[in-house]
Amino acid sequence: MIYIYAFIGCCISSHAAVVFERLERAEDFVSLPSRCQNCQQPISWFDLIPIISFVLLRGRCSNCHAQIPGALFMTELCGGLIGTLFYILELPITTQLGYGTLLFFVGIAALQDRRQQEFDLNLLLAPLAVGMVRLFTNPPDQIILLFGTVTALALGWLVFKKQLGVGDLLVYFIMGLVTDFPVANRVLLLASVIVIATNIPLLVKPTTKRAQRVAFIPALFHGLVLHLIIRAIIISV
Ligand SMILES: [Zn+2]
Repeated sequence: MIYIYAFIGCCISSHAAVVFERLERAEDFVSLPSRCQNCQQPISWFDLIPIISFVLLRGRCSNCHAQIPGALFMTELCGGLIGTLFYILELPITTQLGYGTLLFFVGIAALQDRRQQEFDLNLLLAPLAVGMVRLFTNPPDQIILLFGTVTALALGWLVFKKQLGVGDLLVYFIMGLVTDFPVANRVLLLASVIVIATNIPLLVKPTTKRAQRVAFIPALFHGLVLHLIIRAIIISV
């Protein structure tokens, strides 16, 4: 069963990578079959099996032998890890759907944010819908909602001061609605640690140039995955 979870995770993340690439090129990502970016030949189904096809083809197109980006392999691997975590944590099916939708769309937003320092806000519509359904069917405690609102207001102040993008705030708030605000706050903390840890060279040796905006959505995405890993470790030991 764990392999099925891991495999489904790989397939979904592989699809997320395809959606990301096609959004970049403004292509249809619903009906268009998968094509090699080099020779434009359609890719057969047995060359589309996540991880396995990549390893068997040694990361190259079966037709023109052009290199397939290693990032695709890493994305599939990450999806496999998330699927495995879902299995270990024994999450209820509704929670799996909520977390899955959140990770799928925030994952694509993270890839966009990393590449161009901004992302398509439409990507947040589906997780927002899930969050709204959860808010009305399974309302959080008043105190937790208050806590989340206070944090969101504090982040809103940073947005106002242009220290943080509005997208970062929206992702935090939607994450709180879909998961829970204590979870979202922990993820925010982990994301901040990730940003600091990955920017230590900048802290040690500050450049005189205008401070570059740090892409925060990837950190939030990795923070959420890290949160799931920590919970899985706690359950396992
Ligand atoms: Zn090719």
